[in-house]
Amino acid sequence: SRSILLANRPQGEPSAAQFRFETAEIPPLQSGEVLLKTLYVSVDPYMRGRMNEGKSYIPPFEVGEPISGGVIAEVVDSQNDSLPKGTVVLGNLPWSEYTVSNDKGLNPLPTDGAPISYFLGLLGMPGLTAYFGLLDICRPKAGETVVVSGAAGAVGTVVGQLAKIKGARVVGTAGSDDKVAYLQQLGFDAVINYKTTPDIAQALAEACPDGVDCYFDNVGGAISDAVYDLLNKHARIALCGQISHYNATQEPQGPRPEPKLLKTSTLLKGFIVSDYAERFPEGVQALSQWLQEGKLQFEETITEGFDQIPQAFLGLFKGENTGKQLVKVADY
Ligand code: NDP
Repeated sequence: SRSILLANRPQGEPSAAQFRFETAEIPPLQSGEVLLKTLYVSVDPYMRGRMNEGKSYIPPFEVGEPISGGVIAEVVDSQNDSLPKGTVVLGNLPWSEYTVSNDKGLNPLPTDGAPISYFLGLLGMPGLTAYFGLLDICRPKAGETVVVSGAAGAVGTVVGQLAKIKGARVVGTAGSDDKVAYLQQLGFDAVINYKTTPDIAQALAEACPDGVDCYFDNVGGAISDAVYDLLNKHARIALCGQISHYNATQEPQGPRPEPKLLKTSTLLKGFIVSDYAERFPEGVQALSQWLQEGKLQFEETITEGFDQIPQAFLGLFKGENTGKQLVKVADY
């Protein structure tokens, strides 16, 4: 069975040089253990942070150890009655073709409803991030203007659609014309290609004639600087991600937004989706319902093959994905 290890820590933008493939024999199962065959691997922007040394909300990956993250796997051999052969599970698991595990931290998934891959996307971590960040922090009201940066990604596509469900005017930023077209088709009221628009501040001002009531920030940097100039009184900002800074080698520099936040009585709140762990069942239930009712769509970019995992991860920083980036490792 092959695994992917962190070979060394990146400086700035990561590359294939940070990953090493290793092959090992699968050990025989002990009592209580299961053999998991990896079906889908999630690659996520937060993993870039785990490649660095130092303290964060989640410990760093260790050099020479397998990289791990959200994985959907099938139990193909079992010495554990609670996880019989054929069970499909979601877990935080190593980037390996096969993994021997006990039953701790493995969540059996229903296989008779939404595609199982959705439990890494709409019905998993990114969907829940959109749900709680938008509905608990931004709390958009009908007729208000919501801006979402990184709008064409796993989190952003859900944020925009939820804001539409709540009756808001939705403005997104994304990095290609194809993404702009896709988001318009999803019902976004205006979408700005931040890579080709010469003056983002002007484009945003035109797209938000009534100002900005809610900002769901996935990206940070210059896009946020422009949004902060448009905030209405009592605006709410959900600080979800800052991907434009993840590969930075120096502290980010920029305008100081505090006076603008103060004058507008803006609420700015950072959050990590796990803050809402106790309410995950509520979120999955609500998202499933909107999916069933046809009110939510979900796009996936699925790369095939275990050996493609590093490239799929690196592609997140080049904007190669629309919706959730996954790697399909084996057929279910
Ligand atoms: P996405 O599916 O949005 O993938 C990342 C996207 O970011 C790319 O497709 C790319 O799209 C965009 N991007 C990459 N580099 C830059 C850059 N320098 N400037 C602007 N955009 C860039 O990922 P997710 O939906 O999984 O995550 C979105 C954000 O939410 C990330 O910042 C992530 O860290 C954060 N997050 C936070 C969580 C939390 O608990 N707080 C949980 C989950 C995610 P484009 O073509 O538009 O450039």
